[in-house]
Amino acid sequence: MSDEKKIKIMCKWCNISKTCHIVSQEITDHHGNYGIDSVMMAKVKIHKHFKGKNYCKGSDRTITMPLDKILKDNEKNKD
Ligand SMILES: [Zn+2]
Repeated sequence: MSDEKKIKIMCKWCNISKTCHIVSQEITDHHGNYGIDSVMMAKVKIHKHFKGKNYCKGSDRTITMPLDKILKDNEKNKD
């Protein structure tokens, strides 16, 4: 499971879906209404991209988000 997965994520700085790849994954405990759940979190690196004439602030950033959400968003954006 060490292969790089190309995915798309909505860059929150420019609100456009951008190509990213998953750097690593880890299970974290999430304290919810029904006790503690294990949630698979993914560290995702956003590839360099422009916002207008300049590099977007999201360029080369690594963000952490639930893997579930990433996969769902990718399903939605598939064309
Ligand atoms: Zn961006």
